[in-house]
This record gives sequence, C-alpha cells and structure tokens, in this order.
Amino acid sequence: MVTYKIIQDIDTCIGCGACAVITTDKWEMTDEGKAKLLNSEKIKETYEKTFDDSDLEEYREAVDSCPVEALKIVDKETGEKIE
Ligand code: SF4
Repeated sequence: MVTYKIIQDIDTCIGCGACAVITTDKWEMTDEGKAKLLNSEKIKETYEKTFDDSDLEEYREAVDSCPVEALKIVDKETGEKIE
C-alpha cells in the first residue's frame, strides 16, 4: 500500500477555511486564525500527517482548495510531490 504525507505550512496559511469546509473531519480552525491539520505532528512550522489511499482523494481536494499553496502531498517513501 502506498502511503503519503500531507504537509501544511503554518506560516503560509491565511486561515481562509477552505480546506476545513471541504474536508470537515480533517481540520480545525484555531484561535490564531489558522487551520490545523487534525491528528498531525507539528514539526517546526509545519503540521504533517501520514495517510493512505483511502484518504487520498479528500486530501487532494483540500490541497486544490488552498489559495496560497500552504498544503502539499508527498509520497512518503520517495518524498516526491504528488499534489
Ligand atoms: S485552505 Fe490553505 S490557507 Fe485556507 S485555511 Fe486551509 S491551509 Fe490555510
């Protein structure tokens, strides 16, 4: 099974909420006016979460919805950006 990692750049996020509207069970909005990737690990200025094919389409839609390119998906093994 292919595993992926979604990475959110916290500084770049402008808190528009688009990702949270599209995939409501995967984000929360914080008091700081940012989205927070749920069940993720905070690594420096990013939230990062590993997932598999079952969530790929939803995370792809969230990445596509982001107006400032604060989100990306990479293949966890190769590190190649896929979205
Ligand atoms: S869509 Fe992008 S800018 Fe908007 S809240 Fe989500 S991560 Fe932040």
